[in-house]
Amino acid sequence: MGNTKKAAFLDRDGVIIEEIKFITEPDKVKLLDNAAKAISRLNKEYKVFIITNQPAVGRGMCTEEQAKKVNDKVLELLNEQGARIDATYMCFHHPIHGIGNYKVECDCRKPKPGMILKAAEEHDINLKQSFTIGDKTGDIKSGFLAGTKTILVQTGYGGDDGFKDATPDYIAKDLYEAAEIMLKEE
Ligand SMILES: [Mg+2]
Repeated sequence: MGNTKKAAFLDRDGVIIEEIKFITEPDKVKLLDNAAKAISRLNKEYKVFIITNQPAVGRGMCTEEQAKKVNDKVLELLNEQGARIDATYMCFHHPIHGIGNYKVECDCRKPKPGMILKAAEEHDINLKQSFTIGDKTGDIKSGFLAGTKTILVQTGYGGDDGFKDATPDYIAKDLYEAAEIMLKEE
């Protein structure tokens, strides 16, 4: 029973791509500078996962299929630059604004650690040796609760999201600088 692999659990919006609230159209996806370069460097040492809340689905603003198309566009743009995502985990729920079955206090919506724990279980990940990277306090809290190290990036919200209930282990200018921190930890 290994649990030997290290992972980078990356928030997507504001970390890999430009933050657009409730992004529902693939055409709007724009990679942040050096994000692909950062991920291709991480690919050599870490399994790389996207861990993202996409409550636009739960709110009825788009379908799961549309949300997946947006994410496929992210993967496509990254692949064009030699960067690979091992798997994507998305939460579509919202406890208050969700519609129908999407209105639920789920275990996956960040700041809860459910998506990271699921990825770790499915991919045999050692959480203590792994990192969670995000631009919101909820990303950091989720990574902390899952038992990973955490890095707040100053792109996207840059931590300026109105919450103060989690403190990152590191602060980085962007994903590229975060990757440098992760690769130095060898
Ligand atoms: Mg974000």
